[in-house]
Amino acid sequence: MGKALIIGAGGVASVVVHKCCQNPDIFEEICIASRTLEKCEALKNKLEGSKTKITTAQVDADRTDEVINLINNFKPDIVINVALPYQDLTIMDACLATGVHYVDTANYEPPDTAKFEYKWQWAYKEKFEKAGLTALLGSGFDPGVTGVFTAYAQKHYFDEIHSIDIVDANAGDHGYPFATNFNPEINIREVTANGRYFENGEWIETPPLALKKVYDLPEIGPKDIYLMYHEELESLAVNIKGVKRIRFWMTFSENYLTHLKVLENVGMTSIEPIEFEGKQIIPLQFLKAVLPDPASLGPRTKGKTNIGCIIQGIKDGKPKTYYVYNVCDHQEAYAEVGSQAISYTTGVPAMIGAMLVMKGIWKKPGVYNVEEFDPDPFMEELNKNGLPWQESFSPTLLD
Ligand code: NDP
Repeated sequence: MGKALIIGAGGVASVVVHKCCQNPDIFEEICIASRTLEKCEALKNKLEGSKTKITTAQVDADRTDEVINLINNFKPDIVINVALPYQDLTIMDACLATGVHYVDTANYEPPDTAKFEYKWQWAYKEKFEKAGLTALLGSGFDPGVTGVFTAYAQKHYFDEIHSIDIVDANAGDHGYPFATNFNPEINIREVTANGRYFENGEWIETPPLALKKVYDLPEIGPKDIYLMYHEELESLAVNIKGVKRIRFWMTFSENYLTHLKVLENVGMTSIEPIEFEGKQIIPLQFLKAVLPDPASLGPRTKGKTNIGCIIQGIKDGKPKTYYVYNVCDHQEAYAEVGSQAISYTTGVPAMIGAMLVMKGIWKKPGVYNVEEFDPDPFMEELNKNGLPWQESFSPTLLD
């Protein structure tokens, strides 16, 4: 069918590349481009013999001109951006300049402060409309599948959705006393930020991890879950009309939180530079250097993730509840594509989003979040591409 340019060559990109190669009728040709060419080459070598033709390129995606040149050389139908959130706008600019569709998995972040806001990318709506191009935002798991799950519930099971609780559980064990399963800087920043949720048209802020509950998750068992802010809350609050409350919960073990507390108390998570043996160092960056590299956790991680949406509302005048979730096994993901479940659950939906745009099923000029499209084809592809989902109509509810 066509060609995709994949920008980034990290954990998520590796899954996207494997999954594109499993769908060679759609992805006839892909180009893997990142800052470090050797990483792209290594990925290409892993997929030797694939029916999808693979090329590689070096690109600094902070520079729109470099991305434009690459697009003009490779001539893709779509760009799948799985670099970092800092590159979203430069890549969207390059897509507009060259007439190519765009997909990503995380909202744009200014390099200095994390905001978790869509405003910069939503501001591109008119430009994409005028250019007749589709920009699909947040096509990972959360954001991504959680939005598709919600749209599916709305389409098939509810006249009105009143509350959505997104529960993201990782019961993976890597065997280390303490490690973060993605970039420690971003991870620690996310966990130490204030919580926030949407209720009756307002955003309510809570101190970091102040709201805790225990939830018994299918295939995982009872876990401590903590209320956090997460970027899909912003778009769901706009796109799910009439919703009264949306919250996001994530599991953390007591062990993880105790380590984090100690590190915080002794100053190791600080981003203020300090002088050490005549040199300026940033404690958090030093901490990152002594912690295990997240990429090295893949082969050691055992256990499962379970991410889903618990939804309450009204159907035919009666109260209704619905829970839809996916369970992903770290070791099975690693055996299939060489990445653990966190990257797997992000990379598969990124490929599916790109596939639906390329097929014309999710093609519409403008900038969209996943819940704005018909969820059915996406739900079907999740089942076919390694992220089967399950549903229950009598879940335990979170008050
Ligand atoms: P990694 O850090 O493993 O990989 C990032 C890749 O981007 C690296 O190959 C890096 O290259 C490349 N890169 C960074 N800066 C540039 C640049 N200026 N130009 C070109 N390439 C660049 O990250 P992940 O694979 O774990 O995550 C990828 C994306 O997925 C992130 O945006 C993350 O926020 C998102 N994500 C979304 C989730 C969801 O559910 N929606 C969940 C998890 C992640 P190099 O190594 O050479 O620096």
